[in-house]
Amino acid sequence: MSGAVVNLIKGGTHRCLEGHPWIYASEIAGVEGDPSKPCGAEVRDAAGRLIGGGLWSAESQIRVRLFSLRETVFTKDLLRERMSRAGAAPSRAGRACGRLVWSEADGLPGLVVDRYDDTIVVQILHAGMEMWRGEILAAVRDIFSPAVLLDRSNAPVRLAEGLPLRVSVEAGAYASPRVHKVGNALFEINLLTGHKTGAYLDQADNYALVSAHASGRKVLDCFSNTGGFAVHCAIAGAASVDAVESSSAAVSEGKKNAALNQVGVVWHEANAFDWLRQAHTQKRRYDLVVLDPPSFTKTRDRVREAVRGYREIHVRALHLLKPGGLLATYCCSHHVTPPIFEEMLRESAGDAHKQLRLVARHSQSIDHPVLINMPESEYLKGWLLEVV
Ligand code: SAH
Repeated sequence: MSGAVVNLIKGGTHRCLEGHPWIYASEIAGVEGDPSKPCGAEVRDAAGRLIGGGLWSAESQIRVRLFSLRETVFTKDLLRERMSRAGAAPSRAGRACGRLVWSEADGLPGLVVDRYDDTIVVQILHAGMEMWRGEILAAVRDIFSPAVLLDRSNAPVRLAEGLPLRVSVEAGAYASPRVHKVGNALFEINLLTGHKTGAYLDQADNYALVSAHASGRKVLDCFSNTGGFAVHCAIAGAASVDAVESSSAAVSEGKKNAALNQVGVVWHEANAFDWLRQAHTQKRRYDLVVLDPPSFTKTRDRVREAVRGYREIHVRALHLLKPGGLLATYCCSHHVTPPIFEEMLRESAGDAHKQLRLVARHSQSIDHPVLINMPESEYLKGWLLEVV
């Protein structure tokens, strides 16, 4: 039996009718039974038809996250079966460092499992999945046999769920930092403190796609963090690489990463907005510019300001590119949709008096699959553009 039956209100907009896995509090007419038990919630529409089975989060606006449109009871066996299947996906085979489980896209909403060689990092993002923590850690041990198992459940979204932030070593002994190969380069990574679960694994495929164009080019990597794009481009034979990053901690790690890979990267600890303006004044020129800023907005009502920020850095970056030069630009703001971003690209191109040819569209690495029913699962969008 499932923990409870959740009945949707009649009418209204229910994205779950199109297979979207989220059900908001405002969509729910009533709940029968006790959904707080760790077995889940059966969701039914106003006519009593089954929508699917989900995990209940009492304090979240997203009250239910569906794990299935067919099964209604979340069990230990279902967890293990989903985890094994996710880990065995062809997109994940052969990656020493990469994502093994990606939340809703793998039918395990709110669960992230990342591999860094012999170490596995688990991240639980909401209350419905938190109830399964013990089973999750046991399943990871049995299925992936990690030498070290870490819990990095310290993503701020947990606070909205009334959950504590937690970082713990669950198995083995962890000494940080350690060197891992992400994409084609070595990085010194602290899995207890690094961004996300330690590294930008979602950009790994894009490191390859961008650095394939780097040979012989003068490269500028803005918002470089610890040098993901910069180091890959240098390894690929760039004529020179400049990296701009505002965090001094990231810059010092980035310097170590360049040394670790025996390549030269010139680091600039600076605000990219200011640095780009100055570079324009100084008439610096590049053949390949990467823009990978943090999300400029987490909410829909700040999209306009975010677009202004994107436009500013794009116009400035375009000024530095000669005809034939490439711009690789990424957007991880969910509310800034591809049409909004492309409109911003057109306006920026207009401001810089340049035409841009689309070379390729990029997305997050393919070990972070996209659930088509859930646009939010494609959270990283990229464009590789050539100045005509
Ligand atoms: N491309 C990186 C990830 C970038 S994350 C990689 O693949 O690893 C965004 C980075 O932008 C963070 O490291 C953050 O410190 C930096 N950042 C944020 N605001 C900035 C600013 N105004 N100027 C320069 N860097 C900034």
